[in-house]
Amino acid sequence: MKKIGLLGGMSWESSLEYYRIINEAVKEKLGGSHSASSLMYSFDFHEIEDLQHRGEWEKLTDLMVDEAKNLKNAGAEFVVICTNTMHLMAPDIEAGTGLRVIHIAEATGDEILKRKVQKVLLLGTRFTMEGIFYRQKLEEKGIEVIIPAESDRQVVHDIIYNELILGDLNPESRRKYVEIINKAAAIGVTGVVLGCTEIPLLIKDEDVDIEVFDTTDIHARAAADFAIEG
Ligand code: GLU
Repeated sequence: MKKIGLLGGMSWESSLEYYRIINEAVKEKLGGSHSASSLMYSFDFHEIEDLQHRGEWEKLTDLMVDEAKNLKNAGAEFVVICTNTMHLMAPDIEAGTGLRVIHIAEATGDEILKRKVQKVLLLGTRFTMEGIFYRQKLEEKGIEVIIPAESDRQVVHDIIYNELILGDLNPESRRKYVEIINKAAAIGVTGVVLGCTEIPLLIKDEDVDIEVFDTTDIHARAAADFAIEG
């Protein structure tokens, strides 16, 4: 089994989920007392969030590449970035470490195709919804991607940074998300990508009538599969 290098703490609320799901997936596959061989570097998210909102992406890239190199030096054989947003620098991490990054959008795209969904709503931080780095990975697989209107994007983004990363799960925020998802469903969207690793803490399959793609679960399981099968 390969040793997994996790870049976590973005936020720790979802890193906990990664740790749990990866270990559960390894146990399901290998049985008995098996668990994942892994290392995690967990950032202080205050620093990350501050740099993101100041647009200091080069500094963020340096931080991520440095910590990925530390994971490699400690024995990690591949890298898992435990956030959608910071996949912006996935290519830099691969180039800087020479290690494979298991890409969250690629794993999610494969799952979308598996479930035969053609048109999805992408929810996440503004950086994920509005950037090209994420949606392109889905579009390359032939999946049509739509994002919420500007005012709804702000709602989705603010709930992530003001509530979800603090572990604050608010029924009113769940209602707002469901309303945004239902608007997309009404125009023919048949799946929603929960493209921020904290959104699955708030929104579950049963909250909406369309297919739900939980990127934390999909990504963590892809990491466990790669660790075992390569
Ligand atoms: N965990 C979130 C994501 O999946 C947001 C935190 C971050 O900005 O990295 O995008």
